[in-house]
Amino acid sequence: MSEPLDRLVRHAHETRVIVVGGGIAGLVAARECAKVGLRVTVLEATDVVGGVVRSAEVGGLTLDVGAESFATRGGVVRDLLDELGLGGDVVSPNPAGAWVAGVPGVGAAPLPKGGVLGIPDNPFAPDVRRVIGWSGAWRAYLDRVRPPLTIGHAHSLGKLVRSRLGERVLDRLVAPVTSGVYSARPDDIDVDLAAPGLNAALTRTGSLTGAVAEVRARRPQTRPADAPASDAPVTEAAKAPAPGGAVQGIRGGMSRLVDALVAGLRDAEVEVRTGVRAERLSRTADGWAVSTSVNDEALSARAVIVALPEGPARALLAPVVEGLEAAEPIAPVVEVVTLVLEAPALDAAPRGTGVLTVPGSHVAKALTHSSAKWDWVRDAAEPGVHVVRVSFGAQGEEPATAALDDDAAADLARSEAAAMLGVELPASALRAAHRVRYVQSQPAATIGRAAVTQAAREAVRAVTGLGATGAWLSGTGLAQVIPDARDEADRVRSVALWTS
Ligand SMILES: Cc1cc2nc3c(=O)[nH]c(=O)nc-3n(C[C@H](O)[C@H](O)[C@H](O)COP(=O)(O)OP(=O)(O)OC[C@H]3O[C@@H](n4cnc5c(N)ncnc54)[C@H](O)[C@@H]3O)c2cc1C
Repeated sequence: MSEPLDRLVRHAHETRVIVVGGGIAGLVAARECAKVGLRVTVLEATDVVGGVVRSAEVGGLTLDVGAESFATRGGVVRDLLDELGLGGDVVSPNPAGAWVAGVPGVGAAPLPKGGVLGIPDNPFAPDVRRVIGWSGAWRAYLDRVRPPLTIGHAHSLGKLVRSRLGERVLDRLVAPVTSGVYSARPDDIDVDLAAPGLNAALTRTGSLTGAVAEVRARRPQTRPADAPASDAPVTEAAKAPAPGGAVQGIRGGMSRLVDALVAGLRDAEVEVRTGVRAERLSRTADGWAVSTSVNDEALSARAVIVALPEGPARALLAPVVEGLEAAEPIAPVVEVVTLVLEAPALDAAPRGTGVLTVPGSHVAKALTHSSAKWDWVRDAAEPGVHVVRVSFGAQGEEPATAALDDDAAADLARSEAAAMLGVELPASALRAAHRVRYVQSQPAATIGRAAVTQAAREAVRAVTGLGATGAWLSGTGLAQVIPDARDEADRVRSVALWTS
């Protein structure tokens, strides 16, 4: 080895980077830093790493109880899975679509195929008409005959859809998607961020349905601001295939990604410490000190990457980052109840792979029929046994399960599942249940959000040796979180490596 290279390698080994947060963002950031030989320590407050990507034993089955798929867009998640040797276990979901439930006068119906965020390109298509009825279709048709939209410049998705296509399209097709996928009302969604290219297409075509048709024809180039399972992250709706493009999963569950990342980190001699909460960041002469929850221990490092949810991230960063507010905006809370049911009536997958709801029609927000969606879940369960995930809570609305104990929450989830799936699910059908609560990031596609995250990023980047990543900055969903964590780690590690 040449003398300068030798010095660089030694410098890297002596340079410590602390990654705060052991979710996917933190694990990926740690991996990137370890790749160039830096000495990396990951601090995770809870007893397990993975954050929202987590599994649990429910009724003898190991199941994802957080994220359960990834958007294939861009190929970034797939590339990581290939690097980790998991590429051969990538699986596609059952292509049967999701349904929408709670449609007045109709009950449940398949979610129309196509469209953008639930906005149809043809209101008279039979699957669209089934949901909005003839009167809804004629009202939506006015979009084609009304004076053309010469300037496509609507910000609010809700306002745009209401004015062009009417309340039925808004309430029955668009709101179930935004509420399920983004945990947000259509009025709060920024068209430009949720459906890039739609505004420009409006100007060209003069109608909203025409714009949808044009955007769909060019779809591979469009990319929404949030992108979890089907284009959103957050909820079970993310798992409904129609709204946002292709998703895939891993045979055995997404938590295998976490296991593989951790194994790689251990091989690279990264120290992964669980049960250690970072409590305070402070400047030192040559870097940073991180005070932790363990016996007032303070760890020193040349650089720190904060990979936490928004609330804890702001609390840690605000005292050392000028211009960064400590308080986070009100964040949506969601509870996911996973049910293992002995219910042969579900063998026929009566509502495809899952159900979104018309807001206000059900207590639950969405449901995934996991054993209909994923062959590996179906194969793991005995015949006649099914796995259903029911999610509760939306923006500005506490989950209906929040005040209930676990048994009562499971009971509510079971009765909601019966209503949404259109089958009887008596108490005796319930084999086991698991409940978990998540505080989500504000969706990146909500109006005004992009400016908030951009300001936070710039403030952090102005501070040498400090980085921040995670869903609150990148947008939710693994296809957003993973590349952002890589980029941020790359930026921070360059500074750590080239300064002495
Ligand atoms: C119910 C649900 C379902 C989802 N489904 C999908 C899906 O199917 N597909 C998809 O792509 N995306 C999905 N998403 C979104 C996706 O899971 C997230 O965007 C992503 O996992 C966020 O990763 P993260 O590392 O930014 O944050 P997190 O996973 O929240 O990780 C942050 C970590 O920091 C730790 N921490 C907090 N405070 C401290 C502290 N002070 N010190 C040390 N550690 C701390 C936490 O314990 C946690 O482990 C879903 C999200 C939810 C809520």
